[in-house]
Amino acid sequence: MDTPRYHRVILKLSGEALAGSQGFGIAHEMLATVAEQVSEIRKLGVELALVVGGGNIWRGISGSSQGMDRATADYMGMLATVMNALALQDALENAGMATRVLSAIEMRQVAEPYIRRRAIRHMEKGRIVIFAAGTGNPFFSTDTTAALRAAEIEAEAILMAKQVDGVYDSDPVKNPNAVKFDKLSYLEVLSRGLKVMDSTATSLCMDNNIPLIVFNLKDKGNIYRAIMGEPIGTYVGR
Ligand code: UDP
Repeated sequence: MDTPRYHRVILKLSGEALAGSQGFGIAHEMLATVAEQVSEIRKLGVELALVVGGGNIWRGISGSSQGMDRATADYMGMLATVMNALALQDALENAGMATRVLSAIEMRQVAEPYIRRRAIRHMEKGRIVIFAAGTGNPFFSTDTTAALRAAEIEAEAILMAKQVDGVYDSDPVKNPNAVKFDKLSYLEVLSRGLKVMDSTATSLCMDNNIPLIVFNLKDKGNIYRAIMGEPIGTYVGR
């Protein structure tokens, strides 16, 4: 059997990825796609933790642009990620996997509180950990959460599941001549202002040398290919 390139990874799912073509909320078929792909990875014995966004339900910045207090709007965004985390947990458990949701904001009735050592222990026992409520702090993003948690649990890479198949020099939806990058450095991402992740998250990955693999979630088997080290999407590293 082929040997995976990575043994402990973070899978970052944006809220948008869960919305699928409906563009809002949680699409059942996207949950099923994630569950199917994640179960392939579990069979390889790879330790996997998920960080889920909330943009399919609420983004702090849209609330604050309407005059809402930014911190309040951001806490609403963090709560949105908890809803997504519970939906993912349900889908993964239905597919026969053991999971734990660890929330950065305490809500003991629905999730365990985030405790680093506990997260690692769950993963060692073969459970899939889902990190909810972002970092627990306003003014951050779930991309930064992925970078932070990856550094904390010593993940070897962050798999960034997107709606597009990699990083382009301009928006491929608007520009048919947009060119896809196979490989980029963190500094190129920052200096060109490429929309891979926000600059706080990119800097954290750069400082801790955590590679990113950006790929399309909708192509079945892509999470597996990324774990095996196949050249898919765009690789961001040193
Ligand atoms: N958020 C936050 N702190 C965090 C993570 C998230 O305040 O550590 C809020 C922020 O308002 C953000 C929302 O939660 O807009 C949803 O997260 P994000 O935009 O990262 O989701 P995604 O774009 O991945 O769907």
